[in-house]
Amino acid sequence: MIDLKNISIETAHAALKAGEYSVRELCQAYLDVIKEKNPDINAYLEIFDDVMTQADTAQKRFADGTATLLTGIPIAIKDNMLWKGKHASAASKILEGYVSTYTATALENLLKESPVFLGRTNMDEFAMGSSTQTSAYGITRNPLDRERVPGGSSGGSAAAVSMGGALAALGSETCGSIRQPAGYNGLVGFKPTYGSVSRSGLIAMGNSLDQIGPLTRTVRDTEILHHALSSCDPLDATTIPMDKRVPTPRTPTMKIAVPSDVMKGEGLDKEVFDAFLVSLDRFRTLGYEIVPMDFTYIQYSLAVYYVIMPAEVSTNLERLDGIRYGYHAPEARDLADFYSKTRSQGFGREARRRILLGTYVLSNNGEYYRRALRLRDEIAKELDHMFESVDFFVTPPAPTLPFKLGEKMTDPLAMYYSDVFSAPANLSGCPAIALPTGFTAEGLPTSVQLTAPRFEDDKLFSIGKEFERVLQ
Ligand code: GLN
Repeated sequence: MIDLKNISIETAHAALKAGEYSVRELCQAYLDVIKEKNPDINAYLEIFDDVMTQADTAQKRFADGTATLLTGIPIAIKDNMLWKGKHASAASKILEGYVSTYTATALENLLKESPVFLGRTNMDEFAMGSSTQTSAYGITRNPLDRERVPGGSSGGSAAAVSMGGALAALGSETCGSIRQPAGYNGLVGFKPTYGSVSRSGLIAMGNSLDQIGPLTRTVRDTEILHHALSSCDPLDATTIPMDKRVPTPRTPTMKIAVPSDVMKGEGLDKEVFDAFLVSLDRFRTLGYEIVPMDFTYIQYSLAVYYVIMPAEVSTNLERLDGIRYGYHAPEARDLADFYSKTRSQGFGREARRRILLGTYVLSNNGEYYRRALRLRDEIAKELDHMFESVDFFVTPPAPTLPFKLGEKMTDPLAMYYSDVFSAPANLSGCPAIALPTGFTAEGLPTSVQLTAPRFEDDKLFSIGKEFERVLQ
């Protein structure tokens, strides 16, 4: 029996190298869990039919001595990442039956190491949501409490790992979609510096915010995956050349900033706040001073996000008109009627809501959008300024614990509030990590989130590993 609970990329690699088990056996162990749990959890929308062929390719690399750390590692991928020849639907009916014609660069980077992609995971439709309940292919349940949401939008990826159905998973985020589900599943979730991982082949939501990142059990696993995913890509002009990824020089301060209102627990569930205070003590144990701060602009991050994101959503989803991809309305009077029917039948409620909102935001000569961009700049500057006197910025990843299935579905604003602590990192391009901190008395996972200046992704891994050590 392979101990899937305590496995990591490095321990699996060592075991595969020593021949303790084969790649096929490792994959089979995950497939067995998936078979047992997925019918209820619905973490995966599809298990790829060539898992064992991929396993054989990986095994050969152990035989010929070219295996690397990710060779043969079973990984789940979110349904918005293109892999040539495979379906990708962004959990939307409008992309039903779409087969990718090329492979996302980030996946291509991993494929060089011959991992095993087990399947594609459920998500909120087009990554819009915080609970994986807006998918056109059913909800995903939280494996730690099946009556609760796994978070979102990368809820399927998080659930795949936490149910023991993958060693690691890839998610994407526009505003917290990796970190929040990681927090809701007791996992590590990482959003890298914007421009470090290519978006080519990632179905766009808000392209100035989107990044791909890992969901794993340990910080080290996240670090390994992030380094493999990251590249400068001619197919994505917003990726940053490797030699330009240099942080602004700063002297370490051993200080971590926390917004004063968060320090008072304002807007947080009691259990979230209690766990947060314990995490702050752990950072103190590591020698950090916690510094409460007041901000002028950062508190507007959520509002700014909900102007910029829908604007980008409405333009990005314009291409889904029924002519080129996926679903098309079976009957229509004329072309305009065809577009309208295809889009109203193909998109779910939340996608339509955001397309409408974004179209509105871009009306009036784009003035709303431009104003939001100006504020976005101020938020980034305020973070830069803050990082002159502290090393990191800390908050919980989300203000509530994993909530009950069905909750917040009729109240979009309550759902949007889930993103309140996610937005600053996406708007500013800063890297941020969610780290598991333990469980409440009820057995629900708690989490803490650290944000660092741009290009200091590796510093988040270092402090994350230190934090893991004090937890043990
Ligand atoms: N909760 C965010 C939203 O609904 C998630 C976006 C994301 O990170 N993909 O916009």
